[in-house]
Amino acid sequence: MVDLPKCVREPITRLAGVALALEFAGTVRHDGHGGLVDDLATPDGFATWAGVPADEALRRRAVELRWAVRSLFAHAAQARERLDAPHLMDVGRALEIVNDAAARAPRAARLEWDEQPTLRYVDSADDGDRLLATVATAAIEFLAGGTRADLRACPGPRCIRYFVKAHPRQEWCKPSCGNRARVSRHYHRGRDS
Ligand SMILES: [Zn+2]
Repeated sequence: MVDLPKCVREPITRLAGVALALEFAGTVRHDGHGGLVDDLATPDGFATWAGVPADEALRRRAVELRWAVRSLFAHAAQARERLDAPHLMDVGRALEIVNDAAARAPRAARLEWDEQPTLRYVDSADDGDRLLATVATAAIEFLAGGTRADLRACPGPRCIRYFVKAHPRQEWCKPSCGNRARVSRHYHRGRDS
């Protein structure tokens, strides 16, 4: 194991890779009434979610990065128009934002030699840059990797979550979305007859 930078702390960096990318994309959800709930709406909300103190500037960058990641998810999963559509950007702009965030914490290998040679990775980024770079890198590795083919936009009523299919027949992000869809179909059938 290689030492990770000191940013590794609860809660989000307990996650890595796909799970981290999905968790980040999932910081915005439908509120049950046609609006959105955003975990990153305030600096405190961001700090609670990320485990890193945040000022307004960092929060704004995180939100922009989150929409960029969601725009790429929508593109990858061919998501149809959903509640979050007004926030989505074109692929070129989203790539620029994600790549820029990932590049803010360039990592250098460093060799230390006491008893024996030891490899450490170091970077000069601050906690905020490092956090966003970690999230952006997770999204990049996910979108460029084989798991991307299993990314789905949940078709549940109003749901804007993304998930990676755990088994071939998984249709919903969670069972409650499937239940809501069945209830809603039943309701509409009842009205039409
Ligand atoms: Zn869902």
